[in-house]
Amino acid sequence: MNTFDEVLNLVRPGIRRLKGYTCARDKVKEGVLLDANENPFPRWQGGTQVNRYPDPHQDELRNALSRFTRFPASGILAGSGSDEVFDWLFKIFCNPAGDSVAIFEPTYGMYEVLADIYGIPVKRFQLDQEFQFKAEYFLDKAGPDIKILFLCSPNNPTGNLMDADEVVKVLDQWNGIVVVDEAYIEFSEATSISRLVKQYPSLVVTRTLSKAFGAAGIRLGYVLADPGLIEFFLKVKLPYNLNVMTQKTGIRALGNVHEAVEQIELIISERKRIGSELALMDGIEIVTDSQANFILFRCSEATTLYEKLFNQGIVIRDRGTQYGLFNCLRVSVGTPEENDLFLAQLRRCLNE
Ligand code: PMP
Repeated sequence: MNTFDEVLNLVRPGIRRLKGYTCARDKVKEGVLLDANENPFPRWQGGTQVNRYPDPHQDELRNALSRFTRFPASGILAGSGSDEVFDWLFKIFCNPAGDSVAIFEPTYGMYEVLADIYGIPVKRFQLDQEFQFKAEYFLDKAGPDIKILFLCSPNNPTGNLMDADEVVKVLDQWNGIVVVDEAYIEFSEATSISRLVKQYPSLVVTRTLSKAFGAAGIRLGYVLADPGLIEFFLKVKLPYNLNVMTQKTGIRALGNVHEAVEQIELIISERKRIGSELALMDGIEIVTDSQANFILFRCSEATTLYEKLFNQGIVIRDRGTQYGLFNCLRVSVGTPEENDLFLAQLRRCLNE
């Protein structure tokens, strides 16, 4: 188990020493603001004043996220999608001369893309037959070079939750950073593992407004971590990473959680409906009981089926090249009408 001082030792020395950029809006947000070379004349875009730089500390947004997550605001920071948070993690912890990261396949592809961008080797582990993460397998094989373990729960593209007890075993016995990507958690029955951050400062949880909150277009993801680590996230992030419109729209969305909850409930019930209809179709096998807003299913000649659907204007995702997912397709839950169309075209294509 890592104490915060041990976690600090995982931070690249250059980042530990880094002062970070001090920007005009760090301390002063009101008054006669002649310090940032902004255009002083109020300019409005869709009801938002845009001539001033946004709050680099995202105070109001972090407070809104704190109310929603019941996690202290000092342990939260928002990025341009959770993808930006993953980017910060590489910057803070990974030195190309010797460090590597670990992923459990099949999973979300961005961890590996970022590793490639930063020249960090990826150590590949595999989820088990039920697409479950097993701590012992990781602990047996993980070398000292691995700085970050990326886990995704519910996992994309399989849709299942990772067993939290297995994650705790790793937190107890391993000295690296454990990232749990909870992009789809609002569609699941699980509670966020962020409740354990206080006990385990090496645990970093990422969330997003792109899925359940229906705000993928504003680019707003966030990290829940030890406040001591947030200090490093603040240093490596570009000063004004979240524009004023994103911050404002995010605050508004978080203030209307009931709107998101209604849609989440509908998406979950549609997921169940699609699931039970797929289960009745000959030649289709549902891969896991999804806890996200998509379903992964297996069929014979998946790529041909994918193309047939595509030609009918129904666009889903072919995941057949990922580890363990030969002949697997992933369909996102759409509106009830879209789902009807998908199911009707799928039936038609299967009977052709
Ligand atoms: N994590 C997972 C598992 C995802 O599937 C995605 C997007 N598809 C993301 C993170 C990134 O989400 P965003 O950058 O929009 O927050």
